[in-house]
Order: sequence, then C-alpha cells, then structure tokens
Amino acid sequence: MPRRTRIGFLLLAVTLLAIVSGLRRGATDETQTFRWPVMGTIAQVTVRNRSLSQTDLPALQRVYTRLDERLSAWNPDSELCRLAAAHCTNWLVAASPEVRPCYAAALRLARESGNAFNPRVGARLRELGVSGGGAYSDFDLGAIAKGFAVDVLAETITRRSAGAPPALLLDLGGNLRVVGDGVWRTGVRNPFDKAGPLVGVIALTNGESIATSGNYERFIEQDGVRLSHILDGRTGAPTRGIAAVTVVTPPEYGAVLADGLSTTLFVLGPKDGAAFLARHYPRALALWIPDTPAAPRVILTKEMARRLQHVVWPSETRTQTER
Ligand code: AMP
Ligand code: MG
Repeated sequence: MPRRTRIGFLLLAVTLLAIVSGLRRGATDETQTFRWPVMGTIAQVTVRNRSLSQTDLPALQRVYTRLDERLSAWNPDSELCRLAAAHCTNWLVAASPEVRPCYAAALRLARESGNAFNPRVGARLRELGVSGGGAYSDFDLGAIAKGFAVDVLAETITRRSAGAPPALLLDLGGNLRVVGDGVWRTGVRNPFDKAGPLVGVIALTNGESIATSGNYERFIEQDGVRLSHILDGRTGAPTRGIAAVTVVTPPEYGAVLADGLSTTLFVLGPKDGAAFLARHYPRALALWIPDTPAAPRVILTKEMARRLQHVVWPSETRTQTER
C-alpha cells in the first residue's frame, strides 16, 4: 500500500484565498468580506461600498450548495456520483440542464487537449489515493466545477441586481471573478513560500476571472516522493515539472475556463500550453512557475507579460503561436 498523505482542502483554500491579499491595497473604497465553507473549500465574496448585505447572503449560498449537490465527487448522493454509479456515458443528456454547460466545457477541453485534460481520471485518482477515502466518481469535475459555480453565482447576482450589479469579487477556492465596476488587484502567490512576497500583481476588471492550479497544497506522497494531484489525462501519471499555473480569462470565457485551463496548462506545460492557447483560447493569459524552488522563475505568455506587474523573479515570455 502506498504511503499516502493529503494536505487538507481547507489549507488549500486558505492559501488560495490569499491570492487576493494584494487587493485591499489597491482599494480605496470600503470593503467587506463574507466567507463560508462549501464544495470542499472556502467561498468568499468581497464587497465594495456595502453594495451587498448580510441579508442577501442566503440566496447566494444556496446557489453553491445546489451546484455542489449536483457536481460533488465526494458526496455519493450527488447527481454526478449517482450517474457515475449507473455507468452513465452520455453526460450531456443525463445531467440536469443547469450543470450541462459544466460537463460540456470539460468534454470540450478534453477533446481539444487530446485528453491532457480528462474528467475520466476519477478512477486513477482513487487508485493513487488522491480521493482521501471519500466517495469518488470515475468522472471527475474537480478541475472545473468551482469555476463553473463562480460563473453561475456571478450571473445570479447580475440578474438579481436588475441592471446595476454590485461591485464585488467572488472567490471559490482560488477561482476568482470580478462582478460589476471596479478594479481588483490580485496577487500571484509564491508556491514555494506562502508567506513570501507575491510573484506578481494583476489588476482585473469587470467580468474577468483568474484561477490558479498548484502543486504544493494538495499532493500525495508515495515512498517519499511527492506526487501531483493533477494527472496527465493521456497517461494517468502524476504530472511533474510545474509548481503552479495561473490563468486570466475575459468575460466571454468565464471562470469555468480559467479553472479548466489552469489544470489543462498545468499538464501541457509552457511550450505545448502556449500553442494550445493560440489555437483554442487566444484571449486567455497564462503563466507557469516551473518546479525549481532553488532557482525560481516564471514563464509568461506575451499578453500575461503585458498585464502582470511587479514581477519579482526572472521571467521569460512565450509567444502564443501555433506549432
Ligand atoms: P485544479 O485545482 O482546478 O487544477 O483541479 C485539480 C483537480 O482536478 C484534481 O484534484 C483532480 O480532481 C482533477 N484532475 C486531476 N488531473 C486532471 C486532468 N488531467 N484532467 C481533469 N481533471 C483532473
Ligand atoms: Mg482547474
């Protein structure tokens, strides 16, 4: 039996929450933060100018809870787990309409990436022990469901506000999306030293999203070797070589693609990843931090290089061109 260690999801959440640690410095307005646990992580809503109050909260919380009941791989009663147990093959037909776009985005990413991104890694994750003993579906949306949930909540808030959306920042386990007016400065964390200075800072505006996939908060240990919880979906082997990937997406891509792409680009690495973006998602920005803590550096797409400020490490730029 492999020796298994899994660092808790709450730790992951707390760490990723701090991605936005830079934001308050940029905000002159008064901010207020609501926080609660859901989907195995921490949800956070940061509001400016009291544009949302405590009484609005239960309705927002219900959105995430409802999506968790459908998409959770840890809850055997979730729609995902029940469909998996029934050996579902046609997810797009079987899943309830609200979550179909999440399945569609996952399957599309799998197709486009030649299965580097692959929701069917569930069984392999369980075999490796990443499931932490929880009920696990063979079909796993853990790489994309939180970003999807952020988009659904952003839409809900915008719809409820009848034309004047409040200025706020949504964060679900490191998947962030800006709603309404305002600029939010978000920091990219140092994956090797959570307390260390930010690797860089990026200002996000209305509808933009940012997501990070990291290797340092969640991993498994086998015979003293640390294995990534992100697998190469083509081979089922844990990925190597990358410590963190951050992706920024425009409104039309949404948080769902920031989430899905950060995982995809983690698997593909900077070379194939930049080519993949050029071909399929030219408006996404990305950065990779190679897993070289002794000589940290950052690899940026050209557009990311233009947006990321205060970069503390040596950086190199990748042009997004098709190979
Ligand atoms: P994220 O933190 O968004 O990068 O998602 C990581 C999670 O996605 C893992 O914990 C697994 O549940 C799942 N996963 C791992 N490898 C893959 C893969 N190649 N394609 C899709 N999902 C994956
Ligand atoms: Mg992801």
